[in-house]
Amino acid sequence: MGGEKTDYIIVGGGLAGISLALELLVRGKNIVLLDNPEPSASSRIAAGIIHPIVPKGVRLTWMGETIFPLIPVWYREWETRLSASFYQTMEGFQIHPNAETAAFWQQRASSTEMNVWIAPFSRESLPGISAQQGHNAIHHCARLDTNTFLNAALLWLKEKIIIECCMFEHASLKKQGQQWQYGKYRADGIVFCEGIGVLENPWFHKLHFHPTAGDILTLKFDKDLPQALYKNRSWLVPDGKGNWLAGSTFHKGSRNTTPVSEDAEKLMEQIRSWTNIPFFMLHHRRGIRPTVEGRRPYLGEHPKDAGLFIYNGLGSKGSSLIPWLSPMMADFLCNGKTLNSEVDISRFDL
Ligand SMILES: Cc1cc2nc3c(=O)[nH]c(=O)nc-3n(C[C@H](O)[C@H](O)[C@H](O)COP(=O)(O)OP(=O)(O)OC[C@H]3O[C@@H](n4cnc5c(N)ncnc54)[C@H](O)[C@@H]3O)c2cc1C
Repeated sequence: MGGEKTDYIIVGGGLAGISLALELLVRGKNIVLLDNPEPSASSRIAAGIIHPIVPKGVRLTWMGETIFPLIPVWYREWETRLSASFYQTMEGFQIHPNAETAAFWQQRASSTEMNVWIAPFSRESLPGISAQQGHNAIHHCARLDTNTFLNAALLWLKEKIIIECCMFEHASLKKQGQQWQYGKYRADGIVFCEGIGVLENPWFHKLHFHPTAGDILTLKFDKDLPQALYKNRSWLVPDGKGNWLAGSTFHKGSRNTTPVSEDAEKLMEQIRSWTNIPFFMLHHRRGIRPTVEGRRPYLGEHPKDAGLFIYNGLGSKGSSLIPWLSPMMADFLCNGKTLNSEVDISRFDL
């Protein structure tokens, strides 16, 4: 048995793969990262919104109490290590489209369970916003500039680990005793972080993935809105470069990454219905979210093929979840610590 020995090969360089590489490296592991970089990869398209509230039922997002204290700490720490700025906290505003929705938010905001997250209902007008049904401010919102984060991490990692831009061919992976051989590399474990590319993975494709395509627009407003995250049925968030990101659509089951102008028109019409500053579109992009049944990510080891691992299923919440899940996955790999039972794939029969 020959080749270059490494602890782990990570397949996929999106939010999951890159953040796991960072966490494994600080735990002293050797890593090879194999990624086929695609401009339409979910992590490259994502708006990076971090928001604690699920609109349906106006409740706290899953594991919000655990995750939200970790998020700023983890990103600030990595901003310092990577000497880059990619995490921006901001006020959120939920702009109510009708009186019924306003009344429901008003009621939920006054509950003791939610008043840490949602400010009291207000009818005060917001500059640039034309909706007349009032709003609630949302605390603890933020935005991860995913491209700046990924680029800074790649630059830092490049000096410390092997990174190859290539398509991983699953058929070329061979078991050699207790280890896995892929080309010239010999590894104790392979961690698949392939996003929706997992559908081609012969070991993990049976997990229930439901790809959901989504559109993001970059808009230029004639006059700037105050920097904040605005949500109605659609949303607007500053991109940090003087423009605004707007989204999004949910095309369930679609794996098509070619933008269609009809989607952009519908989104812009929606945004015009609650803003009053003229804007025009600069870009329209489309990506595929790795959404999963039950909205719980998939982490863990293959039950039959020891040494094959998965870290996937971040759905539309990658930016909020990696500060919690990547250290958890790294501790599982390095120290045998147990995974949260809701994300552990041992709950499935593969
Ligand atoms: C329109 C849209 C808006 C979004 N907005 C937000 C948001 O506001 N907030 C938020 O938190 N999340 C958002 N998301 C979701 C977020 O993008 C995902 O949760 C996250 O990026 C998933 O990261 P990942 O690393 O699992 O997958 P990906 O980003 O898809 O990365 C997987 C990587 O693996 C590579 N790969 C796959 N197969 C192979 C192979 N065989 N060999 C080599 N490389 C391979 C891919 O090319 C890719 O580079 C959005 C997604 C979309 C599409």
